[in-house]
Amino acid sequence: MLERTRRNLLAFAALAAFGAASIGEAAAQPKPLTVVATTAMVGDAVRAVGGERVKVEVLLGEGVDPHLYKPTRADTAKMLKADMVVANGLNLEAQFRDTFEQLAKTKPVVLAGEKLPKDRLLADEDYKDKPDPHVWMDPELWTGVVAAVRDALAARLPAEKATFDQGHDAYVAELRGLAAYARQALASIPNEKRILLTAHDAFSYFARAYEMEVIGIQGVSTESEAGLKKIEEVVALVIERRIPAIFVESSVSDRNVKAVVEGAARRGHKLEIGAELFSDAMGAPGTYEGTYLGMIDHNVTTITRALGGQAPARGLKGRLGAAG
Ligand SMILES: [Zn+2]
Repeated sequence: MLERTRRNLLAFAALAAFGAASIGEAAAQPKPLTVVATTAMVGDAVRAVGGERVKVEVLLGEGVDPHLYKPTRADTAKMLKADMVVANGLNLEAQFRDTFEQLAKTKPVVLAGEKLPKDRLLADEDYKDKPDPHVWMDPELWTGVVAAVRDALAARLPAEKATFDQGHDAYVAELRGLAAYARQALASIPNEKRILLTAHDAFSYFARAYEMEVIGIQGVSTESEAGLKKIEEVVALVIERRIPAIFVESSVSDRNVKAVVEGAARRGHKLEIGAELFSDAMGAPGTYEGTYLGMIDHNVTTITRALGGQAPARGLKGRLGAAG
């Protein structure tokens, strides 16, 4: 009797030391680590690094605004069940704050953007003490987030470190290729047209990386509304600088964009609406634009061509607008 209790205790201790999620690994078919990611950009990085060792579920779909999105009961249930939660952080998922705090008591909640060196972060224009969370807009900077994802996965499954290193390295090589394409394409935009006018301030990291000037009608977070005064200021700037195009974003209402276009038209300036950009959400799952690479490729190619620069119509890989 005593002996059996002892054996059971030993077995229990061994399992506990192993970690609950690792139990599956002892079996012949290792169970993948279940990871819930908030944005699709973060989910793409987890999938690329984790490969077959992770099963990723993304909470925020196509066209969803992460600044405003509140986790649903189903989202919370998924996060409770998952082995790990990975988010952008930097206050992007503002409505998740309390949920993250609760979850962090029982599982790793990785705010990957917050692992970036502080001196690489930009400040929110409206709240100087807060960082600008749109770090995915600069693929070079985003490699730091991919590294944070690798480190978090390796900490959870140390035996798979080599797999995660490999996934990380291959993905980062792709991001570097993308960054090189972006540099080359955007550099071809004539100097006087290097102004990116968008619905909200999501493009500051992009602008820093590629020497563009950026103007957002709304602030860094879509939580604050753009007032009439701000619209008038932007219209005045459009006229003064003879800005040729304004861009719509897939995750932000285009009401303000239309107001600026109408304001400019009343003053005799034709402002073209450039194609839609992906700012805070990627394109449809299953399309090229529904991957991080495709999202940035689309933005770079669209911006370059709308502002008079040189870029192939189908982008870096000839895949823009194609399925899969
Ligand atoms: Zn945003």
